[in-house]
Amino acid sequence: MTYEAVIGLEIHVQLNAATKLFCDCPNRPGDAPNRNVCPVCLWLPGSLPRLSQEALEKAVLACLALNCTIQNESAFDQKVYYYPDLPKGYQLSQHHKPLARNGWVDIVGADGGLKRLRIHHIHLEEDVAKLVHETEGRTPISLVDFNRAGTPLIEIVSEPDMRTPHDAMEYVKALRAQLRYTGSAECSLEQGTLRVDANISLRPAGTEGLNTKVEVKNMNSIHNVGDAIAYEIVRQTECLEKGEPIVLHTRLWDPERRVTAPMRAKFEGPCVPDPSVAPIVVTDAWLEGIRGRLPEMPARKSARFMETYGLTPDEAAAMSAERDLSEFFESVVAQDLPPRKTAGWIVSQLIPALRDRNQGIGQTHLTTERFAGLLDTLEKEIINTQSAREILVQLLDSPAALEEIIQNGGFRQLSATGDLETLVDGVLADHAADVADYRNGNPKVLGFLMGQAMKASQGKANPKVLKALLAERLG
Ligand SMILES: [Zn+2]
Repeated sequence: MTYEAVIGLEIHVQLNAATKLFCDCPNRPGDAPNRNVCPVCLWLPGSLPRLSQEALEKAVLACLALNCTIQNESAFDQKVYYYPDLPKGYQLSQHHKPLARNGWVDIVGADGGLKRLRIHHIHLEEDVAKLVHETEGRTPISLVDFNRAGTPLIEIVSEPDMRTPHDAMEYVKALRAQLRYTGSAECSLEQGTLRVDANISLRPAGTEGLNTKVEVKNMNSIHNVGDAIAYEIVRQTECLEKGEPIVLHTRLWDPERRVTAPMRAKFEGPCVPDPSVAPIVVTDAWLEGIRGRLPEMPARKSARFMETYGLTPDEAAAMSAERDLSEFFESVVAQDLPPRKTAGWIVSQLIPALRDRNQGIGQTHLTTERFAGLLDTLEKEIINTQSAREILVQLLDSPAALEEIIQNGGFRQLSATGDLETLVDGVLADHAADVADYRNGNPKVLGFLMGQAMKASQGKANPKVLKALLAERLG
């Protein structure tokens, strides 16, 4: 029998508000342990939570970016369970009345067509404390760090609309890009500010029902999300083929062994309305104010880039994927540079260089003016492409002026016919056998001679002039 996978994702996103959700402690979980705490987020008896307005606004902005309808009234529940990372015995979350419902994210499906994946709802909740497992001598001990306790999260619960690992990976990518655009969250899987739990079940292909699902956690990269889901689909298919029933449980992805393994069940208690935090009541006027802060989102920006600058769909998608990069691109193009060439340089040179450095543009010495200057110098054939690549590296790493870098590095390209003639003659004299080979009808030798001449110029010859001269000399 052929099976079809039914996949839904629950994604926790840490909002980058300055404080925790219900107190004024800094929202910096990475600080020295238990530094950012107070009676509220230590959950001491008698302390009263007070909802952060900033966290609420960032959450609403995130919900709007994901096309959700903000509910007129939402409220907190106590999600009851006991574990050492939650000593008060319940987590403040929204179960019965979430902040927003009915959103969607568009992705490009594996067949190349547009696919709309629905979001069931988004709710606000506080994070729990972090357990740190160590050994003291030979005794294993567990420590609790409350810096993370009470930090603001939204949980984005999708409909089970995904069918393949591809769908799930594209959904996470699109959602992450849109949330980053709003500036509400950093959304790093690697650093745990975006955490994905996947619910996976199988059904005979062509049927509609929903079968027992298995939850998979602990995927800390987009690739791991795809790999874990692919593994789980194979595992469940094998179970069903052997006649073993699928049992509701949670599994952890092990990135080293590349398998999922069952984790012990946590006691999950009921969700009861919380009496300590007032319901969130949203007025139309307030909501419109927040909506006005929504930037132009990636899909719309991509369409505009194609329309205005004549970019291809791939180029437009690459230029609009990250907000800072899209603004960088537009600012360079505004300095009178050809848009497609600019996009090409950003994709093929700038993005890889930034990735190598593990930096954002803002952390380097590159400005739009310096980048535009580099491309302009290249356009005017003052330098060649090879030199431009080397100069870009220096523009990223040092504050030196472009002109100074070109001067000091001797990057100005050799275009004067006289200089290049001498150089070409020298190369042809050194490679007489190859020249004869070429004249006997082997055209491939031209590329080799071109390479030798470029090498002789230490990479600084104007390739067009050089090629013309070679062709002329070889007759
Ligand atoms: Zn606190």
